Amino acid sequence: MKAYFAGVQDLSSVDYPGHMCSVVFFQGCNLKCRFCYNYKQQAISEKTSLENIFKKLKKNLGIVDSIILSGGEALIYEYAILKIKEWTKEHELLLGVETNGTFNERLNKLIKKNIFDFVAMDIKSNFNKEDYKKITGFSQVYKEFEKSFKLVKNGNIAHEFRMTVTPTLHSLNDIKNINEVVKPSKLVLQRFQPGENVLDKSLNDKVFSAEFIKDLKKYAKTQKNVELRFWE
Ligand code: SF4
Repeated sequence: MKAYFAGVQDLSSVDYPGHMCSVVFFQGCNLKCRFCYNYKQQAISEKTSLENIFKKLKKNLGIVDSIILSGGEALIYEYAILKIKEWTKEHELLLGVETNGTFNERLNKLIKKNIFDFVAMDIKSNFNKEDYKKITGFSQVYKEFEKSFKLVKNGNIAHEFRMTVTPTLHSLNDIKNINEVVKPSKLVLQRFQPGENVLDKSLNDKVFSAEFIKDLKKYAKTQKNVELRFWE
C-alpha cells in the first residue's frame, strides 16, 4: 500500500506530551494557512510505500513509545492510518494524530474505533468563520472544525489544542478570547517561525514587539492550561 508521505522525523519529545515519539508526515492539505511553514513540502509529489515508512520507524523501536501522524493533513489518508494502527499495535506503541479538525466525520469514526490515543488539534483564529477564513483561506470547513473541536474537548480522548501565534494575525486579545473557549483543555501557543517555506512570505517581515512577548508571558503565567512553546 502506498500514500503521499513527506517523511519521518525519528525522534521528538514535544509532539506527544510526556512521550518520546517518531513523527510521520503526510503530504497534502485542504487548507492554506498563511503562516504554514511546511507549505512547499505539502505539494503532492510521489507516493511512498508504507513498508518504506515502517522500515524507517523500525530504527527507533526501543527508543520511542509512540508515533504521531502529522502533515499536511493526516486525516486525508484514512486507509493508511488504519494500516499504521495495525503496525503500532503489533509493536505496542501509542498512536496520536495532529489535525486541523476539518474532517469531522472521519475523526469521529476513528476516535470511536479507538484508533488514536491522543489528538492534537490546531486552533487557527478566533472562533468565527470570518476570522478563520482570513487565516486559512477557507470558511466552508469552519463548521467541521467547530464540530471536531467540541468532539475532542468534550470527549474522553487525551488531547491538546495548538495555535501558531503569528505577528499581525493574532493579538493578545484574540489569544485571551480563544483561551476562554479552550480552557480547561491545554492550549499550546507556538511561536510563528519565519522562513523561506512560509506560505505568505509577507509574514516573514513582521516581528513580535518586545511588549507583546512580555504581555503574552505574563498572561500565560496566570493560566494553568496555557503552555508557551519556542518563545525563548
Ligand atoms: S498549517 Fe494549515 S496549511 Fe499548513 S499543514 Fe497545517 S493545516 Fe495545512
